[in-house]
Amino acid sequence: MEQRFDLVIIGGGPAGYEAALEAAKYKMKTALIEKDEIGGTCLNRGCIPTKTLLHSCELYAQMKKSSVFGVHGDEIRYSMEEIQGRKDEVLETLRDGIRALMKKNRITVYDGRGRILDANHVEVCAEEAMAPEVFLETRRILIASGSVPAVPPIPGIRLPNVLTSDELLDKKDVFPALTIIGGGVIGMEFAAIYSALGCKVTVIEFLDRILANMDREISQNLKMILKKRGVDIFTGARVEEIVADGSGRLICRYREKDVLQEVVSDGILAAVGRRAYTEGLFSDAFVCKEEADVNMPAGKLFIKTDRGRICVDNFGRTSVPDIYAAGDVTGGAMLAHAATAQAVNAVCHMAEKEPVFSVKCIPGCVYTDPEIAGVGMTQDEAKKEGLHVIVKKYPMSANGKSVLSAQERGFVKVIADEESRRVLGAQMMCARASDMISQFTAAIVNGLTLEQMASVIYPHPTFCEGIGESVRV
Ligand code: NAD
Repeated sequence: MEQRFDLVIIGGGPAGYEAALEAAKYKMKTALIEKDEIGGTCLNRGCIPTKTLLHSCELYAQMKKSSVFGVHGDEIRYSMEEIQGRKDEVLETLRDGIRALMKKNRITVYDGRGRILDANHVEVCAEEAMAPEVFLETRRILIASGSVPAVPPIPGIRLPNVLTSDELLDKKDVFPALTIIGGGVIGMEFAAIYSALGCKVTVIEFLDRILANMDREISQNLKMILKKRGVDIFTGARVEEIVADGSGRLICRYREKDVLQEVVSDGILAAVGRRAYTEGLFSDAFVCKEEADVNMPAGKLFIKTDRGRICVDNFGRTSVPDIYAAGDVTGGAMLAHAATAQAVNAVCHMAEKEPVFSVKCIPGCVYTDPEIAGVGMTQDEAKKEGLHVIVKKYPMSANGKSVLSAQERGFVKVIADEESRRVLGAQMMCARASDMISQFTAAIVNGLTLEQMASVIYPHPTFCEGIGESVRV
């Protein structure tokens, strides 16, 4: 059975399903192939489940200190099973929403694994052996196959209870003590979840600070806040091996300033990054490597890759005409919103339309308490580039909404070009930072100056007033 399409998309995450919806706008006959659940990593194993768990944890933490607000409860407790149950309900609701959108937009969804035979043919192999294979002929292909957690080559990494975020997200009980390898975004969000639930958390980070890509002051502040909540954080420390102690616990050995140290816990989370997922994606007609060379067999199609990631140009085109790629599989920020933007822009290119998104300025958020968000340049990056910049900082302890909700900890920092006064970057660590960062993103994308941002009236009392104050100080 062969079906014909204008576009076949492999992967049903935020790159894949948003690309399908964009293609529907241009009346492209589109197929979407997904081997697992629709929604991809973001909906099933990433953004949405972690934020749902974090929401429960924050509520629990707030209820424990509700007497500050004059509200008293008797027994405050949580059930991880019920928290997980609610999370599963949220995921199902959102998956239903995407499925309905696919149907409404007449996008054909195939359950199975997509394998690219050549630039215009894809086969769908059903995961169940009994189901028949389907062959699709298509004008173009968009690869949106995403990423999977990287498993570091540490001895003992395959021991029971050494988990990746995929596995820990579904755990129906809470480890009394958890060691997290990696102080990046995943490590910090899980440290926030598990410490709020009363688990003893230890973070071991190889670099000299946690959240190494964010503003230095934010890293230091978060480290301090988590320490106060009982989280032990060791930086400049490399995990060397994990061993079982014989009584069901795990010993994690790490080297810190040339001294071998160890921490004992019930579970270990490996959060050391993610890698592009391309397993089984290409037939033998393709050669995937960093450079095409003279030894390449004749007639083979060359897909340029970089450490396993599929290389694309500014339009999302791979090295094979008519094959595009977007999202985590291409490396980069590995963020859901970046994936959507790349994928939608790729479809615009196919349809000969102007790109929708400006992908040069991608905001990043960390959903700890307080939240962290950043966009554009940090102060350190501006300094490294030798730019003359103005740095403005506003403490949220002076913001009414923050004080009345007892969330006054944090600040908003703005970096602007000294001469043009255009905003170059912003970093925030405060309540609702993830919602508020968009105002700075809009300012950077549109080349606004500090004065133009300050000319906007912010309603009172709101957290957003912190933005207005930060550009005026
Ligand atoms: P990451 O690259 O952000 O952090 C991994 C950290 O592990 C690094 O700081 C690294 O130095 C450290 N590390 C590696 N090997 C180590 C070792 N042997 N011992 C000690 N430390 C070691 O990766 P992540 O946190 O796993 O996140 C993966 C991707 O998912 C990122 O691209 C991230 O942006 C994305 N993500 C985003 C969000 C969000 O937007 N809120 C949430 C989760 C994940």
